[in-house]
Amino acid sequence: MAQVAISNVAKAFGTVKVLHGVSVDIADGQFVVLVGPSGCGKSTLLRMVAGLETVSGGTIAIGDRVVNHLPPAKRDIAMVFQNYALYPHKTVEQNMAFALKLRKTDPADVAERVKRAADILDLSPYLKRYPRQLSGGQRQRVAMGRAIVRNPQVFLFDEPLSNLDAKLRVQMRTEIKELHQRLKTTTIYVTHDQIEAMTMADKIVVMRDGRIEQVGAPLELFDRPANLFVAGFIGSPS
Ligand code: ADP
Ligand code: MG
Repeated sequence: MAQVAISNVAKAFGTVKVLHGVSVDIADGQFVVLVGPSGCGKSTLLRMVAGLETVSGGTIAIGDRVVNHLPPAKRDIAMVFQNYALYPHKTVEQNMAFALKLRKTDPADVAERVKRAADILDLSPYLKRYPRQLSGGQRQRVAMGRAIVRNPQVFLFDEPLSNLDAKLRVQMRTEIKELHQRLKTTTIYVTHDQIEAMTMADKIVVMRDGRIEQVGAPLELFDRPANLFVAGFIGSPS
């Protein structure tokens, strides 16, 4: 059974349809990348998995539960955003601990989980700093730390690297992959960058105008694109 099953999911904002019945199965531990041009519906689909948007049609299941009507806090997911969304007046440590405290996690457990995440992400020296005292890459790591401490079944990333400069982007790409190899958490990763998709994905979902054009492993799409759009999109440099 798929860890995340997106079945014939549609979305309309008012009368405007932005997703026209998309289906994707994501296996346990898989790293799936949703890729496509700006405006094709990637973030909307991810936000529906997170519970931040309602579903207009179809079903989304996480594990063996249909989650269409569950609020975000009741879904076993953690999302990392492009703009980091850190709390400016909380330290790195407090930013990472916050969601756990909201859930009334035992303080010793919170401390242990924050320490482990800080170790994994090389953030231990920065725990008492505030976001403004960090570089862009460090802020992105804190955002990832906040996701890791929750120990979710599924990580959701929405263009997490697009605010970073090119060199840091390449480095963070590697770090996110290493993190995935270490934790093996099922991941849905959204990007409009075909290089990110090709280098990071176990499976790529190519979207255009609210529809899926093709699903496959990076080399499959490269060698056997279903149409000219996929060929052009996957084949061309960003
Ligand atoms: P992507 O992440 O691929 O760039 P989005 O999912 O953000 O695309 O947007 C898909 C389409 O839905 C776009 O046309 C966008 O303008 C529209 N859209 C997204 N959010 C809203 C909203 N809250 N209200 C109305 N239209 C929206
Ligand atoms: Mg988007």
